[in-house]
Amino acid sequence: MKIYNSLTKKIEEFIPNEKGNVKMYTCGPTVYHYAHIGNLRTYIFEDILEKGLEYLGYNVKRVMNVTDVGHMTSDSDDGEDKMQKGAERENKTVYEIADFYENAFFNDCNKLNIKKPLIVERATNHIDTYIEMIKKLLNDGYAYQSNGNVYFDVSKAKNYYQLSGKNPEELYVGVRETVEEDKNKKNPYDFGLWFTVSKFSNQEMKWESPWGIGYPGWHIECSGIAYKYLGEYLDIHCGGVDNIFPHHTNEIAQSEAFLGHKWCNYWIHGEHLNDERGKMSKSNGEFLTVKLLEEKGYDPLAYRFFCLNSHYRNQLVFSFEALESSQNTYRKLKNRIRKLDRSPNLHDHKIDYYKDKFKGAIENDLNTSSMITIIYDILKDTELTDFSKLYLISDFDKVLSLNLTEEQNSIDSDTEQMILNKIEERMEAKKNKEYDVADKIRDELLEKGIRLIDTKEKTIYEIL
Ligand code: AMP
Ligand code: ZN
Repeated sequence: MKIYNSLTKKIEEFIPNEKGNVKMYTCGPTVYHYAHIGNLRTYIFEDILEKGLEYLGYNVKRVMNVTDVGHMTSDSDDGEDKMQKGAERENKTVYEIADFYENAFFNDCNKLNIKKPLIVERATNHIDTYIEMIKKLLNDGYAYQSNGNVYFDVSKAKNYYQLSGKNPEELYVGVRETVEEDKNKKNPYDFGLWFTVSKFSNQEMKWESPWGIGYPGWHIECSGIAYKYLGEYLDIHCGGVDNIFPHHTNEIAQSEAFLGHKWCNYWIHGEHLNDERGKMSKSNGEFLTVKLLEEKGYDPLAYRFFCLNSHYRNQLVFSFEALESSQNTYRKLKNRIRKLDRSPNLHDHKIDYYKDKFKGAIENDLNTSSMITIIYDILKDTELTDFSKLYLISDFDKVLSLNLTEEQNSIDSDTEQMILNKIEERMEAKKNKEYDVADKIRDELLEKGIRLIDTKEKTIYEIL
């Protein structure tokens, strides 16, 4: 498999440390609010990567953290504590907020057919591991104590700037512009491993440590959980591109200082989902959640389909028009598949040809839009029996996870209600002799893949 490695900035042949086995770590959500659909684009990409590797025959051990402590609004050590902010917003405890939004996150994942990683661990369950690592970093001279806190000294790290590809001056400009400087640090990118002098007097989450009662920094949790569950060597580490600096840069610095050798070979990053203002975020513009898409009548899997039509390394601009059009295409595709004859009649002819093509798309830096084009090629292929088509599509759907071969009609109860309301509206328009209004309703539904048929008694509909 060829995949783009952010560390070397090249497309490389993927070779895991242990033949056939892949150790994969993915940064999880910060559970202080609902995930927006931009966050979920990253999880869809990671899900496809994991399933793609499995399709190629690898055995993937994937670990993900759930951030419930230590993540500041600035991604470095400044700004407000995201969890604390969530608790204040809803007048709940931080623990209640974490439980609620972790649940909400996995519900969203479920709706998007994102498989839960084998190991999912809350950051607050591994304080002992972080303390053990921080002790060693202090002993080995990679960390220092200042005014009660413990910081990692980035000047001691090898290749600190390799992943971000930026030089210290460029980063310094970024730091100065966006972040209020912490005077306890020796240099501006040093980052907190353990805080005891919290500026949040109401900080709920605190633990005993050799340096006093306090809480861990955000970056150490991923290094700690990865080390605990995947050992000293990682094959793949993923996240969104915004995680490259400072989060992943700092993870590399502290993990490699702790382990004394190179830690992870392939860093794979998904590009952002943007809206018309730029990167989608919770604080900027409309807060788009899976729940909101559903309320507006969209199938979450139409959003998955929308994401898979673009490459994970390209920015993707979201609009409701684009989602609408994706949903129509997705429904039409599913309904074409639904009409295939399911009686068993498998011909081996061309099965391997298509399987190889599909593997080729995975191996080509995870080319999801090619994977979807292959589905259309199969549907058009007159040399394949319907049953062979269904066999291939359901095999490929192990990776795509779009419920492509579901037998029943693909519409949900909300859509059905919408169609019935439209039929009612159209009857009303006809009664009032507003034939252009009636025709417009019929045409709009047809555009969505729903054909109205007027019978003697009533109007029925057919999904195309
Ligand atoms: P957070 O819950 O803020 O820690 O973010 C969870 C994941 O979403 C991280 O891997 C981020 O890189 C990713 N992410 C944040 N914003 C976007 C976006 N607009 N598009 C794609 N991924 C994003
Ligand atoms: Zn992380």
